[in-house]
Amino acid sequence: MVVLLTVVGFFGFRQIAGSLVHVKSEKNQKVENNNKVSSDDNVAVHTYNLPEEEQNIVAPQMVYKITPIPKPMPPQTTFGYSVNGRAIGGWIFGSGTETMFFFGAIHGSEKGTVSAMNSFARYIFDNPTVVGKNKRIIIIPVANPDGYANSSRLNGHAVDINRNFDTAGWTPQGANDNFGGPSSFSEPESRLIGDLVSNYNVSTMVAFHSKGNLVHPEANQSSYDLAHLYSSYSGYRYYNDIASYEGTATNWLREKKGGTAITVELTSHTSSDWTKNRPALLQIIK
Ligand SMILES: [Zn+2]
Repeated sequence: MVVLLTVVGFFGFRQIAGSLVHVKSEKNQKVENNNKVSSDDNVAVHTYNLPEEEQNIVAPQMVYKITPIPKPMPPQTTFGYSVNGRAIGGWIFGSGTETMFFFGAIHGSEKGTVSAMNSFARYIFDNPTVVGKNKRIIIIPVANPDGYANSSRLNGHAVDINRNFDTAGWTPQGANDNFGGPSSFSEPESRLIGDLVSNYNVSTMVAFHSKGNLVHPEANQSSYDLAHLYSSYSGYRYYNDIASYEGTATNWLREKKGGTAITVELTSHTSSDWTKNRPALLQIIK
């Protein structure tokens, strides 16, 4: 963990547990051995007893206060570009043969999904052994960067990308005929996902949306099973009372690729729901 150092007193910079830390001496305070670090990497306070030989030299007890600097995310792979030329990037973890694809913000206004995907990638980056040996994990936090930049559900052509995939019943939808696009796969953002699925032989897709507070499977047994599993570990209700929409990425993966696909709807448009999603994500990628 990279942390910011400020030094109080005469102890100076130190190397502790592989980290540079800010060291502060506070005599006569109660010292606890609780190495708590917040999962959001905001502010952490580490306290612990000094080794006995140092106690003899400098002070009977010390309190170390550590303020982490948010670590940069691992560099992204650019998979392609949006209508307005924004890069669509993400991360690939693991090298197994079973590829699972996770993405957020195919609807650009659903911003909590981006935080969820960034937290997920950060967690894997920090804990790479959570990815099963047979798994390859692809994460794209912002599938619709033009919409994200404009806080819009739609892409730079005012198309709902998640109605633009080539399902059998695809039709233009919405108030105007362009809502689902002039034709299926008319949009660079949906074509990028289609190409990625083919190029990496994606077998499982988990699409993040908001804010239904639910997990919804596509219509095959493997998707039902995955949605039940995700529901049990996350607490999102399992919801399968609606027919699948035409033109969605998840429905397309099931229909055209025979894949496993679920939609996770976060509880709000702004929250990552990371504490709900983490146990479910770790369970399904192991
Ligand atoms: Zn959505």
